[in-house]
Amino acid sequence: MTSAGRFAPSPSGELHVGNLRTAILAWLFARSTGRTFLLRVEDLDRARAGAEAEQLRDLEAIGVTWDGEVVRQTGRGRLYADAITRLHNAGLTYECFCTRREIQEAPSAPHAPQGAYPGTCRNLDPAELEFKRATRPAAVRLRSAVQEYSVQDRLHGAFTGVVDDFVLRRNDGVTAYNLAVVVDDAEQGVDQVVRGDDLLPSTPRQAYLASLLSIPVPEYAHVPLVVNADGVRLAKRDGAVTLGDLSRAGTPVAAVRDRLLESLGLPPGTLEHALNSFDPDVLPRKPWIWSA
Ligand code: GLU
Repeated sequence: MTSAGRFAPSPSGELHVGNLRTAILAWLFARSTGRTFLLRVEDLDRARAGAEAEQLRDLEAIGVTWDGEVVRQTGRGRLYADAITRLHNAGLTYECFCTRREIQEAPSAPHAPQGAYPGTCRNLDPAELEFKRATRPAAVRLRSAVQEYSVQDRLHGAFTGVVDDFVLRRNDGVTAYNLAVVVDDAEQGVDQVVRGDDLLPSTPRQAYLASLLSIPVPEYAHVPLVVNADGVRLAKRDGAVTLGDLSRAGTPVAAVRDRLLESLGLPPGTLEHALNSFDPDVLPRKPWIWSA
């Protein structure tokens, strides 16, 4: 299988300049290492009608091109179900009936890291299980044997983070992001994951899950986010932050692209041109402040 990088947006709305900057970086990382570049629409959750088409249009407009067909997670339920079956057959899953509120209110398990699932449903006896099954649909959780796991990141170095009994399938039947992302990357031959550094804390969970499924762990690069003047992650409410808004306000797409490239220390022009100067070792490590 060829080695690939990817961009995997959730089609919840238009991409803003922060998302586009991450997409440009993912493209540059992949192309500069001779990888193919894939586009995966993460539409299991938070999908808004029409958003995918807008996102693909804006990526193309900014010069982010991809190889092959766009893949959508909603067409891949079988792959996720197979992975959960494998984990189940290895004794690595259990049913969980907790509501969010019950989890918040449960006393945390001794020595458990902050925010970890307290393990309420980990060892239900058959009678309890039968009773709970009759009351609510179950989510499926991973029976984790570790409390933390370490990954290597191209920009952050070694990173150790919490691994708890995280959800693999929600109680409404939707596959959880952490499972889908691991299965998809492996099945698509993705061996380089470049994404916003807000996802770094989830990465140890994903790498641990990959190890349980005998999937090679990809190379990671978690890139700095774009923030507003208050240092808060950029969002639609921050004004003109999408290509559409900006062009209506008089900033053409090429000028937005050049600003994004400049923020990365790269020359203006096409992404192919910027590729010649791309060097991950000198990338800015701090969030970039966007001001309209
Ligand atoms: N779909 C996720 C997002 O838009 C990104 C997931 C990933 O790159 O692993 O935040």
